[in-house]
Amino acid sequence: MTLKIGVPNKGRLNERTVDLLRKAGLDLGEDIGRKLYVQIRNQDIEVMFVRANDIPGFIDRGAIDMGITGLDMMAESGCQLHNALNMQFGYCHLAVAVPMESQVRDVKDIPDGSRIATSFPRCTEEYFKSIGKDVEILYISGAAEIMPYLGVSDYIVDLVSTGSTLKMNRLVEIGTILESQAAVLVSERAMKEHAREIEEVTSALSSVISAEGRKYIMADVPKECLPKVREIMPGIGGPTVLQLAGSDDYVAVHAVVEQDRIYSIITDLKRMGAKGILTMPIERLVER
Ligand code: AMP
Repeated sequence: MTLKIGVPNKGRLNERTVDLLRKAGLDLGEDIGRKLYVQIRNQDIEVMFVRANDIPGFIDRGAIDMGITGLDMMAESGCQLHNALNMQFGYCHLAVAVPMESQVRDVKDIPDGSRIATSFPRCTEEYFKSIGKDVEILYISGAAEIMPYLGVSDYIVDLVSTGSTLKMNRLVEIGTILESQAAVLVSERAMKEHAREIEEVTSALSSVISAEGRKYIMADVPKECLPKVREIMPGIGGPTVLQLAGSDDYVAVHAVVEQDRIYSIITDLKRMGAKGILTMPIERLVER
């Protein structure tokens, strides 16, 4: 049976999701453009392009088997889904913010009856109930930041990543309702019906995410430096050490390293007298 995967059709999560699926080996074809769905070549998989906030509901109803969207969307949908993989992008948090001029600097000091504008009414209601506050929730479909300025609300609840939009609108964050990032979401039913296919797609995505931010480094190092080399480039299960034909003094070492350590590793290797240092990108990294 065809595996149906929901992907955000536009917005912040679209581009990176499509990029990761392609890198994981799903052939989405040349020009996705405004297509509503794509049949993956050579695999029994269909990718459906839908709105990010519809994805949890579609998974829950069985219209699609799995989907990639923000954890905030899952929380707001109220659907109980399984998070098969954190995708490590789309980081943000759902925050309570107040106008700079307000005296309130703690959610505990928000008076009962306050008006809170948000596009996350469910999460907001649950949160204020959980801290024992009786507030009025005003649903708006976007641009919550402007609502206190317009006099429509006293405070807002909105997604924040860098905080620059809040700052621009003279708002201050005083509390966090939830942390979010993009994730692969699956229903319990799909987990049973498509266990193998879901595992294959998820582990392919996971291997691409693990590979990004790492590099493969190779160098010929003086044999006596091996203990130090093992320290600076431990690799995954220790570096690979290879004999060099025609040299008794040097050995070749290969290892996977974090990209942000490349500069210091190369500097250390050079200091030890290493030769022929080269680094290569890694496409996939399957650690287990
Ligand atoms: P979209 O509305 O389609 O652009 O997607 C919005 C999704 O992107 C949210 O549900 C979050 O999961 C994610 N996101 C990440 N950072 C932010 C941000 N600063 N504001 C809004 N959404 C964000």
